Amino acid sequence: MNGELPTIGMPSLEQLFRGVTPEVGRILERALAEEEIQPEEAECLFQAQGVDLLALMAVADELRRRQVGDRITFVKVRNINFTNVCYTGCQFCAFGLPRQDPEAYTFSIQEVVAQAVEAWEWGCTEVCMQGGLNPQLGGEIYFQLVAAIKERLPEIHIHAFSPFEIQYASQILGQPVETILRRLKDLGLGSIPGTAAEILDTEVRRILTKNKLSAEAWVEIITTAHRIGLPSTATIMYGHVDEPRHWAAHLDLLRRIQRETGGFTEMVPLGFIHEKTQLYASGQARPGPTGMESVKMHAVARLMLGWDIPNLQVSWVKLGRAMSQLCLQAGANDFGGTLINERISRMAGATTGQYLPPEEMERLILDMGRIPAERTTLYQIVHEGPRHYDPSRPATMRPFEPVRQPITLNS
Ligand code: SF4
Repeated sequence: MNGELPTIGMPSLEQLFRGVTPEVGRILERALAEEEIQPEEAECLFQAQGVDLLALMAVADELRRRQVGDRITFVKVRNINFTNVCYTGCQFCAFGLPRQDPEAYTFSIQEVVAQAVEAWEWGCTEVCMQGGLNPQLGGEIYFQLVAAIKERLPEIHIHAFSPFEIQYASQILGQPVETILRRLKDLGLGSIPGTAAEILDTEVRRILTKNKLSAEAWVEIITTAHRIGLPSTATIMYGHVDEPRHWAAHLDLLRRIQRETGGFTEMVPLGFIHEKTQLYASGQARPGPTGMESVKMHAVARLMLGWDIPNLQVSWVKLGRAMSQLCLQAGANDFGGTLINERISRMAGATTGQYLPPEEMERLILDMGRIPAERTTLYQIVHEGPRHYDPSRPATMRPFEPVRQPITLNS
């Protein structure tokens, strides 16, 4: 011994990937050759671990680079969850409460407009509105909200009302879904959230929502919206009673819808937040996805959907900042919205905060060696490059004005 440490040869990338199992390697090679990934292949990728998982992430990142480049986009948006009164009783939801609950609230139309005006003055280009199905408000509330905001802010983009809310308005007003959607669009609704999709599988939905909005109804409402020119997001809520076979089938269904309508603006995986939900308390669900399940969800979504739905968003509210960065390294390209006043995940136990300032988003994006870019809801670039983050001073988490205490009006 001459006292020198033995040199350890570092494996090359090729050597690292030589450890990939043959089945995973074959699927990843097909993905790199830009061939279509089938649901059973996606199901196999959802089982990836170790080197297989690292290779999956690398291939998803490579496809992301080819499909959308190195920008990571975000949108300045305020969430307005205008009421949390809801009697639907979805097992996975901790947001909806009966009217008598001390935490129940309903904003008046004036309150909602005031919040939208504040958002516009803060530089937001979008308001995102969703609420509980509050029987006191009636079905006309959806039109009144859109009309009132547009009257004050004709240029703001209103992204609002899940397919569940659209179905509810249709049922209580006795008007077809298409009529509801056309009326909303004529008043200035810009797009709808593709939430309430959860897992588009009857067996899973029976446990989650007692099938109150069936998978077929979700598809019907979304495709109708797309057909009349209202785009939507695409979502999946994973990590509860679901399994990889459901995820693969769900992604495949979204891909088929997109090929038919072209109406999805982006794909947004939403991990289940379990803490305060009945679904978890009753022992039916696991406690949300693991970190690796979230990484795989984003990576496989890139492989399956990237050529049809190029934008893949991380939900930082569900993932937190660190996991969001990891998923943005595994196929995702969008940081989502600043989401001032997000309440739905927070009520379910999410502790990741309800506001991510643009300077902090830019700092996290620059930290990854990527290019921050502010976008509109429909992915037009407002500004490319850092505009808010100043490396000479610590990133602030300056809160916006706290929202006023909710009051009950709208009787
Ligand atoms: S998910 Fe929506 S419809 Fe279901 S209980 Fe929660 S607020 Fe109500």
